Amino acid sequence: MSEAPIPTRRNFLLGRFAAADPATQPSTAVIAPTCLAFHGVACMSCRDACPTGAVRFALAVGGARPWIEADACTGCRECVPACPVDAIHLPAAEATI
Ligand code: SF4
Ligand code: SF4
Repeated sequence: MSEAPIPTRRNFLLGRFAAADPATQPSTAVIAPTCLAFHGVACMSCRDACPTGAVRFALAVGGARPWIEADACTGCRECVPACPVDAIHLPAAEATI
C-alpha cells in the first residue's frame, strides 16, 4: 500500500490529495477535482458533516482546498450527501453497494 501524501504546500498545489488512487485507500473518502473549492468557490460542507474531523483544509492558490486525513477517516460516508456537487466518494463502499 502506498503512503498518503505528506501535507506540504507543494502537494496541495499539485493536487496530489485529490488525485490519490482510490485502490490504495479503499475505506477512505476521496475528493474529486470537481470539488467546488478547487474552482475558487468557498465550500466546506464536507468538513462540517464529518464527525471525526478527517476533512482538512489547507491554503492554496485560489483559496482553501480540502484533503482527507486517512488515519481519521472511518468510512462512515457522512460527507458524501453533504457535498452539493457529488465530488466526494468512498470507492470501496460504492463497489459493494
Ligand atoms: S467518510 Fe466519514 S470520517 Fe471519512 S471523511 Fe467522510 S464523514 Fe469524515
Ligand atoms: S462539500 Fe464537496 S464541493 Fe464542498 S468542499 Fe467538500 S468536496 Fe468540495
